[in-house]
Amino acid sequence: MNLDINILNKYKTPFYWYNMEVLNTTIKLIKAESEKHGYHVHYAVKANANIPILKAIEKFGFGTDCVSGNEIKQSLEAGFTPDEIVFAGVGKNDEEINIGLENDIFCFNSESIPELEVINELAGKKRKKASVALRINPNVAASTHHYIATGLEENKFGINMWEMEDVLSTLNTLTNIELIGLHFHIGSQITDLQDFKGLCLRVNEIQEWFYARQIIVDHINVGGGLGINYDEPDKEAIPDFKAYFKLFKDFLKLRPKQQLHFELGRAVVGQCGTLISKVLYVKKGVKTKFAIVDAGMTELIRIALYQAYHKIENLSSQKAIEKYDVVGPICESSDCFGKAVELPETKRGDLIALRSTGAYGEVMSSRYNLRDFAEAYYSTSTPLSGHSTPLGG
Ligand SMILES: *Cc1c(COP(=O)(O)O)cnc(C)c1O
Repeated sequence: MNLDINILNKYKTPFYWYNMEVLNTTIKLIKAESEKHGYHVHYAVKANANIPILKAIEKFGFGTDCVSGNEIKQSLEAGFTPDEIVFAGVGKNDEEINIGLENDIFCFNSESIPELEVINELAGKKRKKASVALRINPNVAASTHHYIATGLEENKFGINMWEMEDVLSTLNTLTNIELIGLHFHIGSQITDLQDFKGLCLRVNEIQEWFYARQIIVDHINVGGGLGINYDEPDKEAIPDFKAYFKLFKDFLKLRPKQQLHFELGRAVVGQCGTLISKVLYVKKGVKTKFAIVDAGMTELIRIALYQAYHKIENLSSQKAIEKYDVVGPICESSDCFGKAVELPETKRGDLIALRSTGAYGEVMSSRYNLRDFAEAYYSTSTPLSGHSTPLGG
């Protein structure tokens, strides 16, 4: 990664730095490859909800996938139109459902009978008809960390097929709801495309089930989940969107006029973000040394939460390689970014980059230990030159 260390050194650490060129290149490719097949892409806002990021994505005509009322508001603030917003989530509260109804969003992805009943009631009070897709639990496995797999019956997400007859008879009584789609999402950070093939085949079966009951919905939504290369962010900065979309073209059977929707999050923004931190102290450990940096799980919790891997680089040193446990300052043993990480000899004041942190990084920040939130900067082609603006600035 070509970062100008002198410029980076001027900013108070830790901070998030977003490379807007990487983001734009990624979005352009998604646009080109999805358009080929006439697919709709809704960016999953929960991956990164910063306004400049959302605005960059909005420019390309995508919609959003929201999982809270505030994400709907943030999408609207960034310029997305309500008719491209889908609203998912296993526990939408009344206030959030009302935000969706008031803004006439494209679709509620509903996950249970009791939720359908509440949407119906709230829509009735507003004399509106809510467009709903059923989030179906396809019961297919995804080879990813079990905390981010969502497509198995044991997960809390979605409606199971054994319940579907009941759902349909309930829907018949809910006059303020229109069933417009079927929705699926099997998990996140999926790098084996075969998992998506498994989803396609399962969706085909499920469509047959509905077809046998004279139901053909207008929209099929296959969620998100495409993974990124955390090991080699420079070698593979952009996921293989061509192969991804083509797989659905090849294996998913759409009925005439049926529209296909995607909800990509991580694959859109993951590689454009870097968390920059400074080494506070280097101290001796048993087997390796500790490099204690000024960012912690408060800025990036993925490693502690999902045993995720983020590539760590020392931007200041080019000396001989040594091994370090790179740890944060938070009072938790799990506040560790990497064990026995090979880095050039590291000293106090060196800048450390945690790569591929654009997705589920800054959004998951907390103020644990009463720490301040990190700033975010955005650059175009020249990192942190005159173009950068603080978050919200
Ligand atoms: C989180 C989520 C997504 C996005 O997942 P990524 O792995 O970031 O692509 C899409 N749809 C739903 C319903 C989600 O919960």
